[in-house]
Amino acid sequence: MSGEHFFDVIIIGGGISGTSLLYTLARYTDIEKIALFEKCDEIASLNSNAKSNSQTLHAGDIETNYSLKKALKVKKSADMLENYAHQYGYENESIFKIPKMVVGIGAEVPMMRTRYQSFKEHYPYLQYWDKERLCELEPKLVEGREENIVAMGSSEQYSAMDFGKISQSFVDNAKKEEAEVEVCLEEEVYSIKELGKDFELITAQGTYFAHYVVVDAGSHSLLLANDMGYGLEYSTLPVGGSFYYATKPYIHSKVYTVQNPKLPFAAVHGDPDIINNKITRFGPTALALPKLERYKGADFIDFMKTLNPDKAVFDVFYDLFSDDEIRDYMIKNMMYEIPGIRKGLFAKEVQKIIPTLDEDDIEYADGIGGLRPQVIDKVNKKLLLGEAKIDTKKGIVFNMTPSPGATSCLSNAQKDAKLICTYLGRKFNKKLFKKELLEV
Ligand SMILES: Cc1cc2nc3c(=O)[nH]c(=O)nc-3n(C[C@H](O)[C@H](O)[C@H](O)COP(=O)(O)OP(=O)(O)OC[C@H]3O[C@@H](n4cnc5c(N)ncnc54)[C@H](O)[C@@H]3O)c2cc1C
Repeated sequence: MSGEHFFDVIIIGGGISGTSLLYTLARYTDIEKIALFEKCDEIASLNSNAKSNSQTLHAGDIETNYSLKKALKVKKSADMLENYAHQYGYENESIFKIPKMVVGIGAEVPMMRTRYQSFKEHYPYLQYWDKERLCELEPKLVEGREENIVAMGSSEQYSAMDFGKISQSFVDNAKKEEAEVEVCLEEEVYSIKELGKDFELITAQGTYFAHYVVVDAGSHSLLLANDMGYGLEYSTLPVGGSFYYATKPYIHSKVYTVQNPKLPFAAVHGDPDIINNKITRFGPTALALPKLERYKGADFIDFMKTLNPDKAVFDVFYDLFSDDEIRDYMIKNMMYEIPGIRKGLFAKEVQKIIPTLDEDDIEYADGIGGLRPQVIDKVNKKLLLGEAKIDTKKGIVFNMTPSPGATSCLSNAQKDAKLICTYLGRKFNKKLFKKELLEV
């Protein structure tokens, strides 16, 4: 098979997962013809956009839901992305040095001290700040607070990233490589069919063929997988995340709070917004939504298809609702979306970070936030708390990438590039990859 509609690899989805894979294939493999199909009219307009996520390059140091082992794994992924950004000189354009910290309040203080002791050897830049020092660094965290507060963090690390701009840079840099790279916008893939060892894709603008297909379509990945009879052991539960803006820039650091291990990435944090430096953002909230995209029209039928409700899914929901902490968290988050009462309720949440802030100091950020495609494993009746991959071993892979999927894009791309090269008998330039992204 050959011709202008034939590619070695087709990637579906132009968020940070798809574009980082496009770049990885173009720069580090000898694959000749690669295409990326994106249904929207621009790259990274959904969850990878800076408006949709928390803009944090997660290094594992201030995320208390991670064990040291997991934190170091996450750090490796974050370092790859940071190295990429430095390689092309994106400092202060797409990657930003914003002070960061995680605070321990009252009864959390001893845990924070122990965590600092075990983390500082692996994160030598980490500092431990007591209440007095915090009063100098971030006075609003201390003002009006009776209980003790401590923090561990750093003022010198690149901690924030515009994942949308980085996605566009992956496309631009991929096009500079020798491989033939085609990026098609407004090119929705409607269906994928196996044709012997190859694939036929029916899209908005035509029919295309590929030896290998990677589906990086966010919440839509499972929909496309299920249509082909793959991934039926999974369901997707889309969880929306909204933000609140503070009317003044109260803090100049990313301030994380201690996470509940049952609810990773659920604890509210405060972040100076990198696209509008006058704003401090608080969030995200977490609300299960019956749609696959946060701010686009309703797609209830597609949602029902990916939820694919059966006894296993209801068992998972039953277990979640039977846990008092999870149930309270879900109800609270539902209320954070209800106009009229939401500001007052969410202000209480933010007061854990800034005790003197009240509801007049924040506003619901309309149109800001995204959707995390949380995956339910129906076989083990569990809500998976991270990413999921369906590797069919037949030349097609489907990725579902909730938080911190943007940070781990290059390590996910590395995994997929290796799978593709092995399957197609092509070369992955490990040496160059290591030199540019792992060893800097
Ligand atoms: C509130 C919130 C906060 C977050 N904070 C962080 C954070 O601070 N740090 C971090 O690392 N991660 C964070 N994340 C997670 C991160 O945003 C995602 O993991 C990441 O953006 C996923 O990228 P993606 O490319 O896989 O998906 P997306 O960015 O959703 O891209 C998928 C693309 O596929 C396209 N598509 C879908 N179906 C089709 C089709 N049929 N044909 C063609 N194209 C299609 C879509 O249009 C879209 O552009 C956050 C997420 C949320 C919601």
